[in-house]
Amino acid sequence: MTTEAAVQAAIVTTWMRDVAEAVKAESGHLTQLDAAIGDGDHGVNMERGFSAVEKALAGQNAEVPPGRLLIVAGKTLVSTVGGASGPLWGVALRRAGRSLGDVESFDGEQLADALQAAIDGVVELGAAAPGDKTMVDALVPSVEALRRGLAAGEPLDRALASAADAAEEGARSTVPMQARKGRASYLGERSIGHQDPGATSSALIIRALERAVSQAS
Ligand code: ADP
Ligand code: MG
Repeated sequence: MTTEAAVQAAIVTTWMRDVAEAVKAESGHLTQLDAAIGDGDHGVNMERGFSAVEKALAGQNAEVPPGRLLIVAGKTLVSTVGGASGPLWGVALRRAGRSLGDVESFDGEQLADALQAAIDGVVELGAAAPGDKTMVDALVPSVEALRRGLAAGEPLDRALASAADAAEEGARSTVPMQARKGRASYLGERSIGHQDPGATSSALIIRALERAVSQAS
């Protein structure tokens, strides 16, 4: 380990590499979920997008601040993914990056602020509210759990473990919901009884963040 900046930037690089691996491993499952209530491309979209992100970040200098890396990641998603998840995760990561700014290192509160900025970006672009059966249903409870953990004085990796649990729980909570946003909303009541693919991949992304931070601490 060299400087603090290199360590913190490494979290972003490790996180994105881990997401690329996780969505690849779960690609079939994500596609299956999307085949039930969408067009069956979510696994492929996430795999293509995050593998491009992994490559884009591998080419970055180790001293590039973490916020800048997230902006590169977001732009890469927008330019490589055709489905809704590309622009949505694209804006999410760009807003998270902008929230961190040029700081060399960040603490739990700054990370929670960055994740909140990511959600705000998703909501601005996609106009989904909690309960609409989207990625928002995984992300909102996840940031709430992160903040609760931090407020209780938990170390960041513990608080992130709770955040990942909450995201998984949030993804499961989409099963009985009727979709009101995105392609699944075209199905009306027939969208009920299926887990939302975007909420499912969002939980993978938060779990990967927990692993990246745990490895670094
Ligand atoms: P597409 O729907 O264009 O095929 P994907 O299959 O990659 O794109 O992604 C679908 C996921 O995107 C959904 O499961 C949902 O979680 C998310 N999504 C779709 N529309 C919205 C929206 N307006 N707001 C938030 N999330 C959305
Ligand atoms: Mg789809």
